[in-house]
Amino acid sequence: MAALFKAGKALGLCGCRSLSSLAELPEMHQMMRQTCRDYADRELAPIAGKLDKEHLFPARQVRELGAMGVMAVEVPEALGGAGMDYLAYSLAVEEISRGCGSTGCVVSVNNSLYIGPILKFGTSEQKDQWIPPFTTGEKVGCFALSEPGNGSDAGAASTLARQEGEEWVLNGTKAWISNCWDASATVVFATTDKSLKHKGISAFLVPMPHPGLSLGKKEDKLGIRATSTANLILEDCRIPLGNMLGPRGSGFKIAMQTLDGGRIGIASQALGIAQAALDCAVDYAHKRTAFGAPIGKLQAIQFKLADMAVAVESARLLTWKAAMLKDAKKPFTKEAAMAKLSASEAATFCGHQSIQVLGGMGYVTDMPAERHYRDARITEIYEGTSEIQRLVIAGQLLKEYVP
Ligand SMILES: Cc1cc2nc3c(=O)[nH]c(=O)nc-3n(C[C@H](O)[C@H](O)[C@H](O)COP(=O)(O)OP(=O)(O)OC[C@H]3O[C@@H](n4cnc5c(N)ncnc54)[C@H](O)[C@@H]3O)c2cc1C
Repeated sequence: MAALFKAGKALGLCGCRSLSSLAELPEMHQMMRQTCRDYADRELAPIAGKLDKEHLFPARQVRELGAMGVMAVEVPEALGGAGMDYLAYSLAVEEISRGCGSTGCVVSVNNSLYIGPILKFGTSEQKDQWIPPFTTGEKVGCFALSEPGNGSDAGAASTLARQEGEEWVLNGTKAWISNCWDASATVVFATTDKSLKHKGISAFLVPMPHPGLSLGKKEDKLGIRATSTANLILEDCRIPLGNMLGPRGSGFKIAMQTLDGGRIGIASQALGIAQAALDCAVDYAHKRTAFGAPIGKLQAIQFKLADMAVAVESARLLTWKAAMLKDAKKPFTKEAAMAKLSASEAATFCGHQSIQVLGGMGYVTDMPAERHYRDARITEIYEGTSEIQRLVIAGQLLKEYVP
């Protein structure tokens, strides 16, 4: 598919920078959406239940998505990526997550949390070393910010980095790290000067596996069970001085800016899960009869479907708007938080309503509704909880409306 995009761009089909309407996508974006939708229907939806039940990392599918350009959508072609924009990335994550919420998480972490900060803050040597192997799906990266003692309060990081000769020596425990059992590198945040609080945090690139780096047990999770999540433990983990990402003390800024973009990815993942829950409910409403007619004829069911559709579509427009602002290099912190908040709440709502439409069949694993309900829940927690999104939105609003 990456080759298809190159051909399309040569023909001037991309049009991504001149997008002026939320109502209709440019042709290249429609292609990206359709290609990912077809792949998700064919390769992901049929096996998502098995991946979930058996906690299986979708290694083959991730390699295929790499070949399609989906593991590095925004990365320039010279570095092995698809050379597209963030709107294209959002569309890809939504469609992949519609097929499998776990695979959507793997795609999102690799694109926005691992590659994203290297692309934005890395030197050209760092980009050459740490990006191309992670564009193909052969390798995936992860992002280690949270700690057992601080998640929302990420500025209180207690993992330490001290300089010894030509090396940084890292010590501490990072918590909840998505992809980590399957990853080949991580961006780690550690404090180089505790007295400076969040301004003393720096970012580092660490290969995996690596001496001094070990992993905790895989968490047994409610949803996205095909992804690995675990503690990442650093005990005298030595890396070259050149593995610092960005200037010393800029780690908190790097983390926050990375999460701004990452939230568009999670909003897109949530949209895919929400859409899958709605699709499942509409299909069942057509097929299931009660009292002599399809339940879709009942107004009570119609109202549920309508409310789900409005929640998904409005969250989708917010998500596209946030992506378009990012692509236009305009401020998008507030819009990304709005997108994540509304899409994650839409996903939870649609997961809940979908089970209700399916009745007893919604409650068992024969149907995907219960998985969508479980997968949806994480989107309200990681990359900033819904409470933190509300704080971000209100903080931006108060700045905008200074009397
Ligand atoms: C499956 C999974 C995958 C994850 N993947 C990653 C990853 O790849 N990398 C990574 O670094 N982290 C990851 N995380 C961590 C995730 O980002 C944190 O769990 C999240 O930010 C919340 O932090 P916490 O769990 O410490 O909750 P806390 O910060 O302890 O929050 C507990 C509750 O208090 C509320 N709260 C906290 N502060 C405030 C406030 N100021 N105002 C209002 N309410 C507040 C929260 O909203 C929440 O309801 C993952 C977590 C999970 C569960």
